Amino acid sequence: MPLELEPITAPGRAFVERAEALVPTLRERAAKADREGRFPHENVASLREAGLLGALVPEELGGLGVTSVHDWGVALARLGRGEGSTAIAINMHLGTSRALVQRWHAARASGDTAGAEAAAGPLRAIAAGQLVICATATEPGTDFLRPNTTATPVEGEEGTVRLDGRKIFVTLSPAAQLFAMNVRVPTEDGDRIAFAFVPASAPGLEPQDDWDALGMRSSGSQSFRLDGVRVPASSLQIAGAWGEWSPGLLMGRTLANQTLLGAFLGIAEHAAELARHAANTQTKPKAQGPIANLPGVQHRVGELEITLAGCRAALATAGRALDERLEQAGGQPLSLEEAHAAMADYQAAKWIVNQGAIEVVSMAMDVAGGGAFMSGNPLSRLYRDVRAGPFMQPYTPTEAREYVGQVALGRSPKG
Ligand SMILES: Cc1cc2nc3c(=O)[nH]c(=O)nc-3n(C[C@H](O)[C@H](O)[C@H](O)COP(=O)(O)OP(=O)(O)OC[C@H]3O[C@@H](n4cnc5c(N)ncnc54)[C@H](O)[C@@H]3O)c2cc1C
Repeated sequence: MPLELEPITAPGRAFVERAEALVPTLRERAAKADREGRFPHENVASLREAGLLGALVPEELGGLGVTSVHDWGVALARLGRGEGSTAIAINMHLGTSRALVQRWHAARASGDTAGAEAAAGPLRAIAAGQLVICATATEPGTDFLRPNTTATPVEGEEGTVRLDGRKIFVTLSPAAQLFAMNVRVPTEDGDRIAFAFVPASAPGLEPQDDWDALGMRSSGSQSFRLDGVRVPASSLQIAGAWGEWSPGLLMGRTLANQTLLGAFLGIAEHAAELARHAANTQTKPKAQGPIANLPGVQHRVGELEITLAGCRAALATAGRALDERLEQAGGQPLSLEEAHAAMADYQAAKWIVNQGAIEVVSMAMDVAGGGAFMSGNPLSRLYRDVRAGPFMQPYTPTEAREYVGQVALGRSPKG
């Protein structure tokens, strides 16, 4: 396979190898879970047994200690070769656990022992496979920077706020014990955007059991209503002004989402494998044997492999660039300009990988022929799953070019 991605760090290699070992199991379970639109809890159990829930948790807290974004993306691609829904679901958990790791490092660096222990507790639980976290930002009719789920003080309950609103596309929620979410906090100086952690068992957090989609059918991405969910006011992490990018928000979003591209690359890699298999095993009289003898099939497979190589190159380059940026920053915050540059790198890779992955699956179907259109053929599921990529925020294809153009032209994007 041209330009196949390999890890560049030792912890990353462990992550990638363990993810790769799960591919046959994930594939075996995929068709049934897709058909039933059911969340496969057994896949979370397999990830737990493989030690992958704690992949990003530092070794001293019991995890694999993966720090390379490049390697994280490669591991996601291996999981995507197994099953797309599980790959995107685990990434929601990994993105949040990475944010907790960052909080742990920052607290330790500033000598905040209590803060460090507050982050270490959940990280140990994640590494032990006892805590799964989903990340929910999306709401109907708005965007990440402008959540309408609002935190308001509860009268007569000093230090407590209530959360009211609606969250949609809450991937991994059937397995999560904790929900990380962005909320709106009204203050006298204007509204703020903040992050809240809400236990799945919190009264007022109501699952709607309404996930019935074209693809990613076993991702458990149901919607939730929040009706007077109580959380301590002190637990809200204020991240900036409501409706405005800050360096922290930009980097948080880039770090949590860039590796999702790996899941879509992995789906495309699986499709390429099926195309090669079809070409070498399906026969036609005019091919005088397998259809791989036909120049048309050879060209289509060649085009598919070249497109795949472009996707791999974009994901690897964006991963390495982010690794380098973080290393150079040495734990210090980036400027707004640098953070926009990181997001623009991610957006460019997102465009190339998502569009390319869709094309690859489509070309694989051309090679495999009409049989690929049948519901029982894995290619038809991959075709539906891979289509989810461009929707992932930020930014969708209707917004991404404008954003990248603004950054390239030195205009600070407003959101
Ligand atoms: C497979 C998949 C998984 C995702 N996982 C996550 C995740 O884990 N966390 C997260 O924060 N975001 C997740 N997203 C959301 C994604 O990042 C985008 O924010 C989302 O696709 C909306 O983007 P948009 O601006 O195009 O949507 P818009 O078109 O502006 O909004 C979505 C629209 O969908 C319609 N809708 C109605 N009912 C529902 C319902 N029950 N569920 C969903 N939509 C409904 C509404 O009209 C709503 O306005 C996921 C999306 C997909 C497709």
